[in-house]
Amino acid sequence: MKNTAIVTKCVQGGYQAGNGEPRQVPIIQSTTFRYTTGEAMGKLFDLEANGYFYSRLQNPTCDTVAAKICELEGGTAAMLTSSGQAANFLAVFNIAGCGDHIISSASIYGGTFNLFAVTMKKMGIEVTFIDPDCTEEELNAAFRENTKAVFGETIANPALNVLDIEKFAKAAHAHGCPLIIDNTFPTPINCRPFEWGADIVTHSTTKYMDGHGTAVGGAIVDSGKFDWTAHAEKFPGLCTPDASYHGVTYTERFGLEGAYITKATAQLMRDLGVTPAPQSAFLLNLGLESLHVRMARHCENGLAVAKFLENHPKVEWVTCPMLESDKYYELAQKYLPNGACGVVSFGVKGGREAAATFMANLKMIAIETHVADARSCCLHPATTTHRQMTDEELIAAGVGPDLVRVSCGLEDAADLIADIEQALAAV
Ligand SMILES: *Cc1c(COP(=O)(O)O)cnc(C)c1O
Repeated sequence: MKNTAIVTKCVQGGYQAGNGEPRQVPIIQSTTFRYTTGEAMGKLFDLEANGYFYSRLQNPTCDTVAAKICELEGGTAAMLTSSGQAANFLAVFNIAGCGDHIISSASIYGGTFNLFAVTMKKMGIEVTFIDPDCTEEELNAAFRENTKAVFGETIANPALNVLDIEKFAKAAHAHGCPLIIDNTFPTPINCRPFEWGADIVTHSTTKYMDGHGTAVGGAIVDSGKFDWTAHAEKFPGLCTPDASYHGVTYTERFGLEGAYITKATAQLMRDLGVTPAPQSAFLLNLGLESLHVRMARHCENGLAVAKFLENHPKVEWVTCPMLESDKYYELAQKYLPNGACGVVSFGVKGGREAAATFMANLKMIAIETHVADARSCCLHPATTTHRQMTDEELIAAGVGPDLVRVSCGLEDAADLIADIEQALAAV
């Protein structure tokens, strides 16, 4: 599928059926794989031959779907994980350990914020959270001797700020660090961060990629462009022998195009077992086949709802980077010219209480800790997903206590607006 349009890659990428083989990606529901000699299996363990031996590390169905996501992002290697959380954890932990430091945009998904600020801190990894709209000087000043990576979200969940990927990539590269971008909200249909200098892309495939609320999952894609060997002292895990894996040096054996994902698979997936299920990968692939068609409709509905909210007297503010009045409109025009996503945030006049009344009166749009589903849903983060954060942290993360997040699904826009209108009338 190399020289085809991204639309065609969605439908046919990753898997080509041979003569008489199943047209749809087969679900290889097997934990293990048989070999006729111990020698043949030994070669797999030494990473000398390609093949499968145990589904905790790799499974053909999962690899097929990872290959499609790799094609969509324009990367050189990719892997699926059991969740988006696992993807972001592995993406960072693959190159940072105890005593290291990373820089992250302060405006990120609540689960990732917690992972970085609490759990990874316990593991000895320090994180500096930085305002994504900071100046280049402020960004450069955040780097330390032991900084190993920079992290941000293309469109932050739920604050919806658009990251200036080029600004972050430039600063990261000037300090010998890769830029990791969580591209969950736009998907590769609306933005391909590698084209703007990002080095690693992660996804919660649970969202638009699956798109139907059926399977939790994640993905990591490597651009193959970051030269680990040029900063070998910073990345010994990739550039020196791995004693836990027969002394393999990943960059030597697998090149820049394969080292990062091979290490994450052979070492981290082996030890941590955040393995995707073949059945989930199959469902994810069904979602990917229509991703390009759905993203256009999600964006169309999101913009229609945002425009309605913008003119409503009971609405204090609306955030949707596709709106001309939005603070991030210009960055969105640059990075997301075909549309951002179907998620819209707004504040109901009257704050926390008014927001609760609005939520309680919705009929068709469901209250859910979810976004990016074919069916529209709605959330008040301050009382749910972000409830462990202090008010200061909430505001720093761009999620004020009055913020309501609507994920516009694939229904008729007029029906979505009618539901929102009657719920606002009850406030
Ligand atoms: C949901 C989400 C995650 C976490 O993904 P899970 O699949 O729920 O583990 C990470 N990043 C972003 C931007 C998300 O929206």
